[in-house]
Parts: sequence; C-alpha cells; structure tokens
Amino acid sequence: MDRIVVAQLTFITLVILANFIAAAFFFTNPAKFNKDQKIPLLYFMLLFLSNGICFIIFTLNIFSISPASVFINNTTSVLALFALRHGLMWRSNSTKIHLHKLPIFYISIAVIAFLNLFVFYYLNDNRIMRTIILLCSNMTILFAAIPYVAKIPGQSTFSEKVTKVVIYTVLFEFMLLLLSLWMVNDPFVYLSLLALLLVVTILLFLGSLLNLLLSDSIALHYQESMTDPLTNLYNRRFFMQQAAVLVKSFQRYKSPTSLIICDIDNFKKINDKFGHSVGDNVIIEFAKKLQSTVRETDILARFGGEEFVIMMPQTSESNALLLAERMRSEVEKVEVFKGKDKANCTASFGVTSFKESEGIETKLKHADLALYSAKANGRNKVKLYENDLALNP
Ligand code: GH3
Ligand code: MG
Ligand code: MG
Repeated sequence: MDRIVVAQLTFITLVILANFIAAAFFFTNPAKFNKDQKIPLLYFMLLFLSNGICFIIFTLNIFSISPASVFINNTTSVLALFALRHGLMWRSNSTKIHLHKLPIFYISIAVIAFLNLFVFYYLNDNRIMRTIILLCSNMTILFAAIPYVAKIPGQSTFSEKVTKVVIYTVLFEFMLLLLSLWMVNDPFVYLSLLALLLVVTILLFLGSLLNLLLSDSIALHYQESMTDPLTNLYNRRFFMQQAAVLVKSFQRYKSPTSLIICDIDNFKKINDKFGHSVGDNVIIEFAKKLQSTVRETDILARFGGEEFVIMMPQTSESNALLLAERMRSEVEKVEVFKGKDKANCTASFGVTSFKESEGIETKLKHADLALYSAKANGRNKVKLYENDLALNP
C-alpha cells in the first residue's frame, strides 16, 4: 500500500481512537452515580462519541463520497459541539431540557447540511468550501458555549477558567485550520496538521471536562460536610470550626461577641401528635425563621435534633438579648398544617456573651444553663446567663 495512504489512515485512526478512549473515560466515570453530574457527563461522552463517528465517516469519504456520508459527517460534527455546549448548560442549570427536544438543534443541523449538500451538488464537490462551512459552524457553536462555562456568571472557579482557556485555544486551532486551507496546498500536510490539532483538542477537552466534574464533586462534598441536610443550615462540626476562629478574633480584638442556644419547646409532643414528617417540617420552618432574623456575619447552625446555636460577632449582650427576643416572637408565627390540624411551636432561648479568656466550650455550657433556666421557668422565654445560674437554674 502507498506509504502516504498508510500515514493518512494512521492519523485518522489515531483521532478516532483518541475520541473513543476519551468517551470511555466519561462512560466509566464515577461521577455518573451523582444525580447532578450524570446528565452533563453523558453529554460530554456524546461529544467524543459523536466526534469519533464523524471521523469514521471522514475516513470513508476519502475513498468514496456520497450525499449520505456528507450529511452524516456534518451531523455528527455539529452534534459533538452541541453536546459539549448542552452539557455545560445542564451543569450550570441553564437548561433542564434535553437536546433532542430543542428546535434550534434540528434547525442548525438542517442549515449546515443544506449548505454542504448544495456545495456538494452544485459546486462540483468543493471540499474546501465544505470544510469552511463545517469549521465556521463548529466555531459558532463553541463560541456560544462560553457563557455557560461558569455556574455563577462573573465568578468562575479555577477549573471553569481553565475550561474557558481550553475553548479559546480550540477556537484558535479551528482558525489555524481555516487559514491553512489557503496556506497549505498539500492535502497530506493538511491532514497531518488536522490530526495533530484534533488530538490536542481531544486531550484539552478530556482534561478540562474531567477537571470540571472533579471540582464539582469536591465542592458538593465540602458543602455536604458543612451543612445539615434537613434545614440547609451549617452543622455542628462547621459551627465548631468557625466558632474557634471567632473566639480567637474576640480574644485578640476584644470586640463584643455573643452566643445564643435555642430549643423548640415540647417538640416530642408535636412529633407524637402530628407524626415525624410534620415534625421535620416544623424544624425546617423554624430554621427559616431563624435564618431570616440573623445577620450575614452571624453563624447559625443546627446543633442537634431541635436545638440551634447562633454565634454573633460584633454583638453585645444587650443586643443579643434583643435579637433572641425577636427570634422568640418570630418563631411563634411558625405554622405547619396536616389536613385541618395546625402545628405551632414556641422555643426557649439561652443567651450569653464572651468575657476575657472564656472559650467556646465554656460559653456553650453557659448558654445551655440559661436555656435550661428558660425551660424551667415555663418555656417560650429568653434567659441571660448569670453566674448564679450554675448553682440555681
Ligand atoms: P423541651 O421543651 O424540654 O425541649 O421538650 P422536647 O419535647 O422538645 O424535648 P425532648 O428532648 O424530650 O424531645 C426532643 C424530640 O425531638 C425527641 C426526638 O425524637 C425529636 N427529634 C430530634 N430530631 C428530630 C428530627 O430531625 N425530626 C423530628 N421530626 N424529630 C426529631
Ligand atoms: Mg425541645
Ligand atoms: Mg432538645
């Protein structure tokens, strides 16, 4: 066989294999077990699969070209980049509609196929013209994917920035391919350049998209490790970490810092009367009320079953008392319905503020004693910790 043909086939096989190997990494990716990542992952897999098929057809085209193969070649190439864009859109919550339900997808394929088939039939199969149309349409789709890389517009994470750089690099590569249509006359040299740039593109997309999924997994697990799943408030562990930081700041700058512990009154009765799921809803509504009352700089956490803590930097004892009183009257408004029955709740509050070298454990004990005193004095009350509470709650 002619050596040039062997080289051409080697290049193309390399591109096809690289695509299928990349697709296999997405197929076997453990992120598919995570419900938020599964769909973007499938679209990223489709990007490589479709591209792989596109190049199989491309190989066939070298030997015998037909309108059908031109059409399939176009469609798979356009589908690949649409899949990338759609995977990014799905990941950033910009859409929850699948690609095959979007008219723009079919319109784009039809327009590009029409243009290319027109060239094929009426311009005596001008291969260069067809390549230009395909490259330009691919660049347009890729360009339109950029706004969907960042989950929060204007606040790209590191791996999102890397993905954007990758997209710009691939756009640049496509530009090079366009320019080389005029500058490189030898089809063998053009194919070599094509194979080189495509393998680089596959590696760039493979690495950046896997990075993106990995960083999403890490962010999700970090978020889960610090929040309580029922209320979405911080959990005890995160609270203790943050409280330690605030105590250090208090000890250094002596800025007033206070702590509140609150606990829903007679919650066992709510559970017994209305059932556990209504009890859960009461906890959720209660948490929302607390959340809407505290400041952004306060740390509010669910400490246990129906017990919550609030650590407040820059807050004096008297202000903490006012805040606790406001919370107490706010949570009285919580209403959860089960049929015609209505579950209400009240809560008791223990308040204390940091003095001299007191640590978080001591203050939690003090706030707990004050809470205990509020419960002992009839519940639905706010109590301030005082020294004699320890002896006489
Ligand atoms: P007190 O006014 O003295 O605080 O009385 P209480 O009934 O609120 O306190 P107790 O500690 O006796 O009961 C708390 C109950 O909260 C017992 C437990 O089953 C329930 N509980 C804890 N966590 C959850 C939860 O996540 N969901 C629901 N529905 N109930 C919970
Ligand atoms: Mg309780
Ligand atoms: Mg309790």
